[in-house]
Order: sequence, then structure tokens, then C-alpha cells
Amino acid sequence: MANSDYYATLGVRRDASQDEIKKAYRRLARELHPDVNPDPDTQERFKEITQAYEVLSDPNKRQMYDLGGDSSFAGAGAGAAGFGAGFPFSDIMDAFFGTAAGARGPRSRARRGRNATIRVELDLRETAFGTTRELVVDTAVVCEVCHGAGASPGTHPDTCDMCNGRGEISQVTRSFLGQVMTSRPCPQCGGFGTIIRHPCQECSGDGRVRTRRTIKVRIPAGVEDGTHIQLAGEGEVGPGGGPPGDLFLEIVERAHEIFERRGDDLHCTVQLPMTAAALGTVLAVETLDGTEEVDVRPGTQSGQVITMFGRGVQRLNESGRGDLLIHVNVETPSKLDTQQEDLLRELARLRGEERPPGKFAPGQQGFFSRLRDAFNGR
Ligand SMILES: [Zn+2]
Ligand SMILES: [Zn+2]
Repeated sequence: MANSDYYATLGVRRDASQDEIKKAYRRLARELHPDVNPDPDTQERFKEITQAYEVLSDPNKRQMYDLGGDSSFAGAGAGAAGFGAGFPFSDIMDAFFGTAAGARGPRSRARRGRNATIRVELDLRETAFGTTRELVVDTAVVCEVCHGAGASPGTHPDTCDMCNGRGEISQVTRSFLGQVMTSRPCPQCGGFGTIIRHPCQECSGDGRVRTRRTIKVRIPAGVEDGTHIQLAGEGEVGPGGGPPGDLFLEIVERAHEIFERRGDDLHCTVQLPMTAAALGTVLAVETLDGTEEVDVRPGTQSGQVITMFGRGVQRLNESGRGDLLIHVNVETPSKLDTQQEDLLRELARLRGEERPPGKFAPGQQGFFSRLRDAFNGR
């Protein structure tokens, strides 16, 4: 309840009209209403937006708030802000949802546990086909001695005598507004309404203990670097034995020595001798599925791509696989012995290529003629 910028809470400008404020609240309320989303953090947000709406929807209160008069009700519990009787909290709730106002009073010790993220390093074969991993997780589990209650076995939390179990202290003060009632969390019990006089020794009253456990996780085929896998309820248990948060696995894919992954496709480059590229050959290619033979057609050019369909990575949550694309790099021999050189010269003579004209590749001539025209001033 520390957020007291009501405009920011509702996401409206300071000069927003009443209609805009109403619309903003309705939209948020539908999202955050406890019936829709029982998560404690969301409920807290719901209280905040409702408190903000209660003030900003009333022109008089809004004016006071704009003048800086918010200190009197900042920190008050929802529905307990400082404008005394006739406060419209319930009315608003009824109008929108047809239900009675949310319960005031002490807050529960049980809160939802935090989410946790752990990184899982996998190699390409594992991300491509999926795998199973046993992961050791440092986490918090419910204390078995007090079952999350936090009180030593055989004892019970006592009702707080300062707030009589209400969890909040109300105070009526006089101000220039007239009588103003303010509420704040009870300082003695911290708003819980009860006091644990004999904390559980196992967990020191927290209701949970830290532990290390091993979980077995199935990682589906097709995940990639940066993929997050959510394991609902596998995070740590909350204080007071509250429900556990979620555990997220962040996939880190190790680089492969041959293949580069782009989406579901794999790319690799093979070096091919000039003679093999000219005559054609059969290549033994390393794939994720083992060694396979690939036909290289006679006359294959450097830069050409040979596609092996369905030899890429399994698609995540879909059937089918990507492809393996083999980029051909034709190697020109750089060291020739006398006999090889003679053979090549003979070949060049037969093909009439002893003094090739050095033709431009298609698409270049236009560029060069434009360049020439530019020089000649045409
Ligand atoms: Zn305990
Ligand atoms: Zn108290």
C-alpha cells in the first residue's frame, strides 16, 4: 500500500477526465479482481487500484489529493481510507461485481512463494531431440514440524492484544476536513492479528525450511537458446506455508562445432575440391542422425547450397523437422606439381580458356556502364 501516486496506479494522466478514470479502473478491476485472479500480489494490486479510484472518482477528494492532502490516508488499508462514514468502497464493489466488499482485517501469514529460474546447459543434440535431466534445486519447502503454521507444536498463536486480532489500528483525528479516520497496520503483530509466542524451532516461525531437492525434468524437443520452460508450483514455498511459486528453466544451448542453428534449420559448410565439384561426387555428411551420403551434382558451384530435408531440429510442440543446409565451398588447388600443371594447361587449351575474357557476372554490367557514363559526363 506504499504506492500513493493514484494517477500512476490507475495509469491515467493527472488531467484525466472522470470518464477516463472510470474506464481505467473498470479495465484494471476486471483483470485483477480476486475472483478472477486469487494470487495475493494481484489482490494487493486490486486493493491499490480500488483505493486510488475511490479518491480520484470523487471530485472533492481528488481536489484534496491534488493539493497534497494524501498523507492522511496513505498507508491505510483498503476500504479504510480516511473519509469516515459513508465511504463508498462496498458500493463500488457491489456496483461492479455484485458481491460484498472484500474482507478487511488481519492479513494472512501465508504468502505465495517466489519464482525461481535455473539455467540448463544443453548441446544441440539434446535441444533437437529433447532430453530428460535431473536437476538439483535449492529451494524452500513446508516445515514438517509445524506444517507451515510457524508455531511450536502444541502451541497456538495468541490473538494480538493491541489490535484485538484485527491486524490494524484505527484512529480518529480532527483536521480541517473534519473528523478523519485513519487505519494503519498494527505495529505489535505486523498486521497479522496474532502473535506467535513460541515459534517453531525447526523453521524459526517462518513455516518453511531451506532444502536441496532433485527433480526430474523432461525437456521437449525443439527448445533453443533462451527458451523458458515453466514448471508450475516447483518454486519455493511461501512464508507461513503459502503456495509455492513457479520454477523456470532457462535453456542455454552450447555452440556446435559443425552446425550453426537458425530456427529449426541447421547450416554447415563443406570444402569441395575443384575436380569433385566439376565431376560430381558422393559426400559422406555428418548429420544429427549419423553419417549420410549426399549426391553432389557435376558442375556444382562455390556458394551453392545442398538441402537435406528433414535433417534439422525437431519443431517445438509441432510435428516435423527443419532442414540441414550444406553450403558448398569449392577449393581451387594452390600447389600444383609439374604433371598436374601440365594436365590443367592441357584442359584449359581444350576448353579454349588459356586467356579467358574475364566476363563480368550478370548484373554488374549495368553498374559499370552507369559508372562510365558518370565519368564521361553523360
Ligand atoms: Zn516449523
Ligand atoms: Zn496486532
